Amino acid sequence: MKHLLKLLDLSKIEAGHLELSPAPFDLDELIDTLASIMSVNAAEKSLDLSIHMPPEIPRRLTGDALRLQQALINYVGNAIKFTSQGGVTLGARIDADEGSHLVLRFEVRDTGIGIAPEAVGKIFQAFEQADGSTTRAYGGTGLGLAITKRLAELMGGAVGVESRPGEGSTFWFTARLARDCTPGSQPAPLDRATTEALLAEAARGKRVLLVEDEPISQIVAEELLTSVGLAVDKA
Ligand code: ADP
Repeated sequence: MKHLLKLLDLSKIEAGHLELSPAPFDLDELIDTLASIMSVNAAEKSLDLSIHMPPEIPRRLTGDALRLQQALINYVGNAIKFTSQGGVTLGARIDADEGSHLVLRFEVRDTGIGIAPEAVGKIFQAFEQADGSTTRAYGGTGLGLAITKRLAELMGGAVGVESRPGEGSTFWFTARLARDCTPGSQPAPLDRATTEALLAEAARGKRVLLVEDEPISQIVAEELLTSVGLAVDKA
């Protein structure tokens, strides 16, 4: 399910079809939603999830809150996934203040397995995983970071990572967001229904005809389609 969405997302971005929908939002609300989603995962592994949002960062901003949240969820989700002891910290700071716009830098630090220096350079490429065995131990698609990179770029920013194997990693991205100075404007409440839930609802019980001659692709496609609740017929 998650894998299918990631593939769809990445292909949309690669094809230049993903456009941001900027709107006024409240950064605290976005971070609270993120914390309530991710603290469950962290608690399952007895990890601390701490969040540091310095007061100088304006909370009323204009940008694509859903995509910003998606980028953060990718980082925080990975940090939890690749950490077995210690904790995960999400922080932010102002990288540049251009008056009407701000460049914010978000950082997710973990005390997990870290990444070997030779893998760091290509970790943001699609389908890359730090080492072959990670896939078996942790599962995943190698798409999350590629998507985060594209999202950060769409938001006028960049991504990066510093890591020490065995000690942990710090993943960061920047995003250029506008200050929301509209007098009296009310930030739209964040839509808590995730895309996944919406897609699952839309897909449930529907039948699709899968036409694919390559056997492995056929298995993958069938797996992805049934995981979102679709009934699959193969030609
Ligand atoms: P996935 O997690 O689905 O494999 P990602 O693109 O999110 O795909 O991550 C790619 C790879 O980068 C992971 O498989 C893992 O090897 C490495 N990685 C990502 N985040 C971390 C992290 N916080 N600590 C250690 N390794 C990480």
